[in-house]
Amino acid sequence: MDILESYLCGEWVRGHGKTAALVDPSTEETVAHASTEGLDLAAARTYAIDKGGPALRAMSFAQRGELLLTLSRAVHAKRDELIEYGMKNAGNTRSDAKFDVDGASSTLAFYGELGRTLGDGNFFADGDAIPLGRSSRVSGQHVLTARRGVALHINAFNFPAWGLAEKAACAWLAGVPVMSKPATATCLMTVHLVKAMVETGALGDGVLQLITGSTGTLVEQLGPQDVLAFTGSGNTGATLRASKSVLTNSVRVNVEADSLNCAILGRDVERGSETYQLFVADAARDITQKSGQKCTAIRRIFVPAERVDEVCEDIMERLSAAVVGSPFAEGVTVGPVATASQLRDVREGIAVLERSGAKVLCGGAGAIAGKGAPEGKGYFVAPTLMLAADAHKADAVHAHEVFGPVSTVLAYRSDEECVALVARAGGGLVSTLYTDDRAITVSIGLGIAAYHGRVCVANGRMGSGWLGPGTVLPGLLHGGPGRAGGGEELGGMRGLNAYLQRTALQGFGPLIEHAVAGAKRLPAL
Ligand code: NAP
Repeated sequence: MDILESYLCGEWVRGHGKTAALVDPSTEETVAHASTEGLDLAAARTYAIDKGGPALRAMSFAQRGELLLTLSRAVHAKRDELIEYGMKNAGNTRSDAKFDVDGASSTLAFYGELGRTLGDGNFFADGDAIPLGRSSRVSGQHVLTARRGVALHINAFNFPAWGLAEKAACAWLAGVPVMSKPATATCLMTVHLVKAMVETGALGDGVLQLITGSTGTLVEQLGPQDVLAFTGSGNTGATLRASKSVLTNSVRVNVEADSLNCAILGRDVERGSETYQLFVADAARDITQKSGQKCTAIRRIFVPAERVDEVCEDIMERLSAAVVGSPFAEGVTVGPVATASQLRDVREGIAVLERSGAKVLCGGAGAIAGKGAPEGKGYFVAPTLMLAADAHKADAVHAHEVFGPVSTVLAYRSDEECVALVARAGGGLVSTLYTDDRAITVSIGLGIAAYHGRVCVANGRMGSGWLGPGTVLPGLLHGGPGRAGGGEELGGMRGLNAYLQRTALQGFGPLIEHAVAGAKRLPAL
């Protein structure tokens, strides 16, 4: 079977030696191999810096925007093919894979349009000139220019298309070339996504390179102008942060890690109301969509104590409609988890939550047959709802992310108690408060804000604009403090920050004014 290629120094190249197998998680059959052994990743980094960086910096924001729009169209044109790869190699249902692929093309398009609006400049003036003396002869002006290194992007297994696109879009618009490393286990879709991008002929030399397999010693070679953006587990994030190169060279690092996201039912919401239905639908969807393998998925469901029974009953009723099996089988709504190690981790994780006092209401860690899968094969997990009767004692529920179709209901008795329990996770990506009440929006919504990168306030009056908390939008921040990694991605212009260096120009005003004349001026922060 072929070893998947990497795209380095303008060529598709194969590693050799020890390979990693990519499997179909419904059948456990190997679908491809990956290896970077013998490939010169150090040369690829130099190629990016020498060729890709200058090419991008020579382009205006509007031209970079056109590039992103071209790439978005290329991804969209290959949509059906890419979706098939997600179904085959990541266990995604068709709808799960669409979520990933359409997320990639729409994020590229969003930043493409943003580039168009930024116009002809290719760096930013950050705020206005600041007079530093009595005359205008001496002044200061902050500028933001593209870093002169490479952006190394290391992504998680759960979004092989969007993961590459959301990071690359921001780096490219800022003017920084990208080396992207998808998680090996599910990289089949990413390889074909990059092929579609390369085939456009629009990418300049060194603007995008793909590492299909291990990064080898590349992280240790990162320099002071490089950026390392990582998405994955907190443990790997901590290892990367502690790399000697990162510490010695102050490599700019952005980490997107684990999160115990919450759905909170406000005290005011009555059973059967539109807001209540929305809450139940979101909770059930986040357990089943992508088999719970979304960094934004709801892991903890907070409910006023007297409402716990009805909420459990209603979520379980929704989950009972789920059909677990091969994405290629008729009627399947929940695919397998992505790998054998994921299956093991999810099963162990359910046991960890049980030991912490949570009990399984439906689903659980037992083996189940997947519809349409060969007998005894496939990494299937039943959608699982758990209940922790004492929210204060269930330590693991606030600390252990089970990255699969699993969520736990917890009771609260006051808004203050709810905020304190939410905060116990030590920082998260996104939590959602379901309420129609102004005071609760302030007490809980603002109360939990400092612990999150995104807080949603949802109710039945929102109409069709609501996509659920799990959809990461390019215009809004993605990331979160503490356990979530402390990173910030996307958020419109904010997503460019990681790739820009802020510099204060100070001195003879007329010369500085001349130097920044072609810059795109932004309001000062
Ligand atoms: P992971 O095991 O930490 O792997 C993530 C990536 O890091 C993979 O590409 C992996 O490559 C690479 N990697 C691992 N060790 C490395 C090392 N020493 N040097 C360089 N690269 C290394 O995480 P995962 O299992 O793929 O993803 C699941 C986790 O990601 C969950 O905890 C989830 O919460 C988190 N996640 C967070 C977000 C977010 O935006 N916050 C989004 C998605 C997922 P290989 O595949 O080749 O090992």
